[in-house]
Amino acid sequence: MSSTPAATPATIARAALRRLAEQGLEPTPEHYRQAYMAVSPPGTAPPVAASAPVAPAEQLGAELAGFVREWDRSQAGLSRVHKLQALQAIEAAPPGAALQLLRSTRERWAALRERPPAQAVSPAPGAPVAQQGGAWKRLWLDAVRMAEQAYVAQPEILAQAQALLAEAAVLDNLDARLMAQAQALWDACERWHDNNAHASPALLEAMRLLLDNVAELFEPRHWIQGQIAALHEVLRAPAQLPRIEQAVQGLKDLLVRQGVLRKAGDDARAMARELIDMVVRSLGTYVESTERYGDRLRLGLRELDASDDWQRAKSVVQGILAQSQQMLEQTRQLRVSFALAQQQLQQSRDRAQALEGELEQLNELIQQDPLTGALNRRGLELSFRREVSRAERSGEALSLAMVDLDLFKQINDRYGHDTGDAVLRELVQVLRSELRPSDLVARIGGEEFLVVLPGDDEQGALLALQRAKAVFNGRRFAHPAQREGVRACFSAGIARWVAGDSLDSTYARADQALLQAKRGGRDRIEIAPQPESPT
Ligand code: GH3
Ligand code: MG
Ligand code: MG
Repeated sequence: MSSTPAATPATIARAALRRLAEQGLEPTPEHYRQAYMAVSPPGTAPPVAASAPVAPAEQLGAELAGFVREWDRSQAGLSRVHKLQALQAIEAAPPGAALQLLRSTRERWAALRERPPAQAVSPAPGAPVAQQGGAWKRLWLDAVRMAEQAYVAQPEILAQAQALLAEAAVLDNLDARLMAQAQALWDACERWHDNNAHASPALLEAMRLLLDNVAELFEPRHWIQGQIAALHEVLRAPAQLPRIEQAVQGLKDLLVRQGVLRKAGDDARAMARELIDMVVRSLGTYVESTERYGDRLRLGLRELDASDDWQRAKSVVQGILAQSQQMLEQTRQLRVSFALAQQQLQQSRDRAQALEGELEQLNELIQQDPLTGALNRRGLELSFRREVSRAERSGEALSLAMVDLDLFKQINDRYGHDTGDAVLRELVQVLRSELRPSDLVARIGGEEFLVVLPGDDEQGALLALQRAKAVFNGRRFAHPAQREGVRACFSAGIARWVAGDSLDSTYARADQALLQAKRGGRDRIEIAPQPESPT
């Protein structure tokens, strides 16, 4: 694939132009002639075309000088491959048109602004790639392979990277042409990355809008609002993959809960519709009967007034009494059916409540705590298992911290549950923002949290938690009874995971350290001693 093409006047001319450009020589006819001869196979005639119309030498010289200057310049959006392609086009142009094409190419390049510094792949000036040996080549190949993997979803970039790898594999050293192709590959990656860099904030913004609209559908105090607030928090800039994954998990949870809730709502609505139907029907019959009863009563009374006959009067009174009896019976029946309806309504309300209860249980099954958006116990167990196997594989440290709010009962008692809830949410936010995105925060009890810190030994975990503690200590929570705002603080106990530890055994050591911190006066962090090794 990379065999040397036969030297034609066209390829020699192209090589000569490239040599001029690379050596940065003044593009005088003399230099051009020397370059032409230097790259020609022995015995080639000098570059004097007898029959082709030749441009006036000064004009050509000036154009070439400009062209070489632009060739040397680093224009934004213009790679070396683009330049080489333009050079080929100039060469392939029919006699007479080449000068015009040279000029228009130069003008187009001149209009482009300077590329910002940080040129990743250009060879260092004065250090030809060929002299830098195998290490350079290995690094270069690795870099291209990385591009190949990173942009695997981009067929165009993938094809470019694979072609480069195939070519580079058979060369001993990188040559300028391959470097140029690599530059073009980086340019393509850069463009793709730029597009993506703009796309991801836009996507996040769309997600936030969507969340706001979903929130509008529910009462302000509905539990879904807490969940949505937690998602907003997770999506806070800068967007990071673990956070986005967590948001996606949160959204899935929301969908499951929403589905259960909708089912409960549908059932309750259907039941209410049936009951209203029944009540309307019963009332209609009752009203009809009352009207009929009234008519008959009036008729009977009139008859009673007009009649002197005792027998007749007796039968009229008996008739009225019998109808009254009937009416009484109907009223009783209506009361019974209303009681029944009420009972059924109560049953459907109970059922809806039971479903809400099931939702609470579902909270346990799914992995997030609805108030703070932290992982729940189940989420913690799953994540901890994953982190342990990662630590076992990589040999990296892993630590656990148990965090407990200090005298939190007092905060609730003095300032109310809502303030308490705000403190809980803020604690999770601070932990999330001050710790690494890869650290996990789980709520394992009312005001107790477990933090998993992959990659940290106990000292690393201590530094991270001290940072979070300093930030949290500075927070104030608004309350009318406390002008300067309510303060809150926490204590923590840290334990380092050791091989063979389970979540429970690491947790137990962290809990001991926490107890020590509480006994030591609270608002402090203690580290648990390492477990004694089994003998
Ligand atoms: P210590 O410093 O020893 O930990 O004292 P404490 O008051 O923080 O500990 P205690 O265990 O006595 O009290 C914990 C309190 O946490 C009791 C309960 O009212 C409160 N709590 C638990 N869950 C919630 C919740 O979801 N919201 C609110 N606002 N308070 C909660
Ligand atoms: Mg506490
Ligand atoms: Mg506690």
